Amino acid sequence: MNSVHHSSAATASTCRPPIDKPPAVRAQANLTDYRRACTEFDWGTAAGELATLPGGAVNIAHEAVDRHLDTPRAAAPALHWLRATGGRVTLTYADLAASSNRFAGVLDTLGVSRGTRVCTLLGRNPELYIAALGTWKAGCIVSPLFSAFGPEPVRQRMALADAEVLVTTRAHYRRKVAPIRRELPGLRHVLITDAEELGADLDGVVDLHAAMAAASPDYAIVRTDPQDAALLHFTSGTTGTPKGAVHVHNAVLAHRVTARYALDLRGGDVFWCTADPGWVTGMSYGVIAPLSLGATLISDEAEFDTGRWYDILTAEQVTVWYTAPTALRMLMRHGQDLPPGTDLSRLRFIASVGEPLNPEVVVWGQRAFGRPVHDNWWQTETGAIMIANLAAEQVRPGSMGRPLPGVHATILRRGPDGPTMVDGDIVHADIDEIGELALHTGWPSMFREYWQQPQRYEKAFAGPWYLSGDLARRDADGYYWFVGRADDVIKSAGHLVGPFEVESALMAHPAVAEAGVIGVPDPLAGQLVKAFVLLRPDYTSTEALRDELIAFGRRALGAVAAKDIEFVDSLPHTRSGKVMRRLLRARELGLPEGDISTLEALP
Ligand code: ATP
Ligand code: MG
Repeated sequence: MNSVHHSSAATASTCRPPIDKPPAVRAQANLTDYRRACTEFDWGTAAGELATLPGGAVNIAHEAVDRHLDTPRAAAPALHWLRATGGRVTLTYADLAASSNRFAGVLDTLGVSRGTRVCTLLGRNPELYIAALGTWKAGCIVSPLFSAFGPEPVRQRMALADAEVLVTTRAHYRRKVAPIRRELPGLRHVLITDAEELGADLDGVVDLHAAMAAASPDYAIVRTDPQDAALLHFTSGTTGTPKGAVHVHNAVLAHRVTARYALDLRGGDVFWCTADPGWVTGMSYGVIAPLSLGATLISDEAEFDTGRWYDILTAEQVTVWYTAPTALRMLMRHGQDLPPGTDLSRLRFIASVGEPLNPEVVVWGQRAFGRPVHDNWWQTETGAIMIANLAAEQVRPGSMGRPLPGVHATILRRGPDGPTMVDGDIVHADIDEIGELALHTGWPSMFREYWQQPQRYEKAFAGPWYLSGDLARRDADGYYWFVGRADDVIKSAGHLVGPFEVESALMAHPAVAEAGVIGVPDPLAGQLVKAFVLLRPDYTSTEALRDELIAFGRRALGAVAAKDIEFVDSLPHTRSGKVMRRLLRARELGLPEGDISTLEALP
């Protein structure tokens, strides 16, 4: 075992007094006795809340939409779609049901059979929601692609998925698919959402709206088995080539339950999940969970913009907001005073996912929004939130929180090649010892395979434990603290350094908007800690500031602080908002950049 360093930053954040929710906006406690809930919860009993189809069939689209049709909710808004150019379009639950029925009918007419992969390459617009729901109704598998992908990432994923159907727009088709269509022999049908003015160059595609108009608004949803595949999600590609994680229809049970516990979500909420449905967050919590609970979704077609975001929170009277650390850091760059006219009085609950949430951001959120940001942790592979600062409990800034009822997590002791085994038994880490975060198999939204990569799938398990690839520690109260991805952790002079703690320590300085930390080879220490720093708008990069930041980090962290700092104009992020440390490392060391298909275009 490596000598493990518990830095003062981690300890400092543990000791920071928990933030109490102000009484006026206190989230309604939906889980008042955590320990009891954990003991009593079982997924079998929880399954009783699914609406199910005759014969015990479970279909995500039925759970999300059609289950509401016999209730007054049928006429309630399911989706407010905000156009990038202004204006909004509303679809009720009944509208979504009928449109997705038509979409499913189109797939049938085309002769698409059950289990077929249907890819979407669409921005955030209603067709994306309709296509996903209709695909499930027809018993097919949805594989959402992020609309900003270029031709090569699209080709790679569609080829791996062996997709037979693609739903996309004219512009995406022309630019990204037409040039590579010959390389995708399995792609039989391309459905175009804005085909009204098809050009001669668009032969061999289907006008989706015309086909839907000709289809029936009624459809007998395919009675999918709870264990039938429903989703093929590609991971963010933060650590390498994205993997295709397969999820089943029964995952909807986990989406519902976890959204209630971790997001405090209920019927009637106005819910804004800012993640794109091209990623797992935007599908599990941007589509499935909120609809199945009867909430109203906000879907914004535009990209991130500080002013626009505060306007949306205000104008739409958002009650629950689920976003990501990068977005919060960008809002924080603009200070604590919200733009005039911002009204967050209806906002009851804020949560964050995707990357470690620096304690500094939680503290800022408390001041700026008047309520804390609840961090939670999960992955494409887990399909749903696993660990969270729960709605009914105090937030611990810097911690991911505690496992949800029904989730059994642990920290496994790690040797150089994975979990440490003694006499064939796996060894759990001690309290506060850094190890690999693992989950006991058996929750409904666990991925069932890495598509066409069985060996990679097998390697993700040790006995009954799913190995997350993330390093973390658990404190004496059962809270989990993220240290870093196994690939990102730095070994410096015998210390194990998590980039997150070094980044968070730097972010405590008023000049720092965002930081990305890597290890660079060093003959003496093994690795030295280097930080790439993005400054807030009103600071300039000077030698003096550099020295000040190095000293500032050292005061907080001691020996493991960053020894070198480089100022940058932007940090490389994945499209799902994660700092791509492997790219910083590759560039620093002059190595090949590897798979950068998910890299966000620089501003
Ligand atoms: P790839 O597996 O292709 O490298 P990825 O792991 O970034 O990509 P996702 O499944 O989108 O793909 O992201 C899950 C990962 O994001 C987690 O394993 C973890 O490293 C990070 N993460 C998610 N939420 C949190 C959180 N609250 N705190 C810290 N890290 C988080
Ligand atoms: Mg991953």
